Amino acid sequence: MTSVAEHLEAVLAQISPVPARTVPLSRAHGLVLAEDVTSPVDLPRFANSAMDGYAVRAREIAGVTPEEPRVLPVLGDIPAGDGRALTHRDFHAWRILTGAPVPDGADAVVRVEDTDGHPREVMITRAVEVGANVRAAGEDVRAGSVILSAGTRIGPAQVAVLASAGVAEVRATGQLSVVVLSTGDELVPVGEPVGPGQIHDSNGPMLIALARAAGHFAVHGGHLPDDEKAIKAEIEHHLGHADLVITSGGVSKGGSYDAVKSVLTGAGSMEFTEVDMQPGKPQGFGLLGRRKVPVFTLPGNPVSVLVSFEVFVRPALAALAGQRYEAVTLPAVVLEGWSSPEGRQQYHRVRLSRDTSGAYAVAPVGGPGSHLVGGLALADGLAVVPAEVTDVATGSRVSVLPLRPLGEIEADLAQEQDRTGSGQQERG
Ligand code: AMP
Ligand code: MG
Repeated sequence: MTSVAEHLEAVLAQISPVPARTVPLSRAHGLVLAEDVTSPVDLPRFANSAMDGYAVRAREIAGVTPEEPRVLPVLGDIPAGDGRALTHRDFHAWRILTGAPVPDGADAVVRVEDTDGHPREVMITRAVEVGANVRAAGEDVRAGSVILSAGTRIGPAQVAVLASAGVAEVRATGQLSVVVLSTGDELVPVGEPVGPGQIHDSNGPMLIALARAAGHFAVHGGHLPDDEKAIKAEIEHHLGHADLVITSGGVSKGGSYDAVKSVLTGAGSMEFTEVDMQPGKPQGFGLLGRRKVPVFTLPGNPVSVLVSFEVFVRPALAALAGQRYEAVTLPAVVLEGWSSPEGRQQYHRVRLSRDTSGAYAVAPVGGPGSHLVGGLALADGLAVVPAEVTDVATGSRVSVLPLRPLGEIEADLAQEQDRTGSGQQERG
């Protein structure tokens, strides 16, 4: 048998990042830069006003106070976007708006609040320093300097600096094309009626949601019968374009109903492995086809699928997309113990709360069966129980792999604490 860590290592050893693509900025959000980006321009591009006010030469209003104001003739208005090449005239002012270019020779802006606001002859009641209320050209970013380095994830602020610098395209990786295939004679797509003995496919929609939430482009390649020929043909078709293929079902023992395992055994670098984990023991992974596309063949039970995604597929997707990744776990106190099989790393569905000291606390939710999607949907996370532990005692500590965004979990816990006044064991 293979440990979780060994299997993950074997998977990651076979993965290299997909080549970077040139992406328009409008589609770059969420991707990771493949190379440094330098700014072709200064930012700000030109000296401009930080305030609505009057552009002046500071020394021409030196010593001015409310008691000893100075009146300057106003040469005109400069709104934002004004493209005229304007210059200062001695002992004059321009009325200027926020973001408008400061005229050549003017070196400060007096805020409108420190004047009488007159459009033709302005009375100024306060002196300013050179540079006051002026955003200098290049004070933020110098032309030719690196604004974002390779490996940076492009979030909203990074989009803003790229747009400001006029960078319309970037070389980036990150949005992978993920194909999800569900296998099983019993499966019917949701929205279609199920006959006797049939069930709706839930792994397909769940895997698509997981891949999309991880920032990728996921499509459902279809529902395949337990038929070796059909499965082979469909997988081969997707090897031509996918960055990653994920199948579910059909891998337990390799008998006549485990068509995925039968058909892929010996193909490419495919290996079928029994991993010391619960749930999710039967795992398959390998590179297939001329493009050496990574293929995960996950077990069929929905809880096993989710656990396998979190433990193996998510880190593999990150590696493939050239992203840095580390699973985040939360330390928690066990409020209500449970047992764990000998020699297998267990991923136990739990709900989170807080104990009286404010630390995270967990209790099991739903039953242990890996077909129980109702309970799965109520879980905040998976408690990770090491292989050697068989009894997870009340009061002991576990690490929890969150299944929902941390901010959302925190908000729920805070709301609960407000409602109950404590938060401990009040949930559910
Ligand atoms: P298998 O590994 O194909 O024997 O599947 C194990 C269990 O998972 C069976 O109860 C299947 O019906 C169920 N299963 C397999 N694929 C799916 C799916 N896509 N959606 C929901 N349940 C599934
Ligand atoms: Mg099956």
